[in-house]
Amino acid sequence: MKVKFWGTRGSIPVPGSNTLKYGGNTPCIQITSDNDTIILDAGTGIRELGNSLVKENLDHRIINILISHTHYDHIQGLPFFAPFYDERFEINIYASVNENSKVEHIIDYQMQPFFFPVKRDIFKAKVNFYMIQENSVFDISRVNIQTSMVNHSKDTLSFKLTESGKSLVYMTDNEIKFHRLSIDPEENRIINLNNEIIQFCNKSEFLIHDCMYNQQTFADKLGWGHSNNIALAYFAMIADVKNLILFHYDPDYSDEMVKEMLIETSGIISGSGKFINCISSFEGLEFDC
Ligand SMILES: [Zn+2]
Ligand SMILES: [Zn+2]
Repeated sequence: MKVKFWGTRGSIPVPGSNTLKYGGNTPCIQITSDNDTIILDAGTGIRELGNSLVKENLDHRIINILISHTHYDHIQGLPFFAPFYDERFEINIYASVNENSKVEHIIDYQMQPFFFPVKRDIFKAKVNFYMIQENSVFDISRVNIQTSMVNHSKDTLSFKLTESGKSLVYMTDNEIKFHRLSIDPEENRIINLNNEIIQFCNKSEFLIHDCMYNQQTFADKLGWGHSNNIALAYFAMIADVKNLILFHYDPDYSDEMVKEMLIETSGIISGSGKFINCISSFEGLEFDC
């Protein structure tokens, strides 16, 4: 699998001089396996990705979009995704929505006249919608996909993509659970309270995980459904992942603050005698898995 980041920021896009290095677009990651395109989340980063896909000379114009959850920062790029307006494409959208909603609503609600000038019936691509849930298992060509529920709002999913024995876990908008009354992570509590998702991430090649806050900010954000970098460092060591990628930064964090989080996170891991390659995701980051 080839992996490329198009949006790394949480909550709201933040263009500007403070976010040039790590980027200001909301979540979007492109996975390419052979000729297949899988997109993780449809934040504002998906706009530029779509523009590049319509220009490419692709043999295979089926695109699969996996939505972790329907908070606006994970879907707001959809109406601006150029392949929807191009009849050469077929687009499959996979998401979990509650029993009173349909996956189509993810697009239809934000393309109502109150918010947007045109409706979904203007799309030229064939678009299919698939409901998924926690513990879903399915294949997109050679890539096996598993889902797990995380600690955020209801119906938020993490995705594990496995090809040729190597796994990449995309786990954003997850608050790693530990002692609610303390902001200091305690290893045993992390193990006990997060057992299911630790197993889900266990020994994965890459873990892309929510790293919204440093510990100072987190003190005021317990229960908001996002993680701090210290808890994440322990979580990654317990799950024994090979590469940890920090993701979904607080919109108020400058490049300098993100860099400080990376240094602190790497320091905790190396200070514990473990080796995990630790990276801060940025727009344009690419690697093979
Ligand atoms: Zn989010
Ligand atoms: Zn969210």
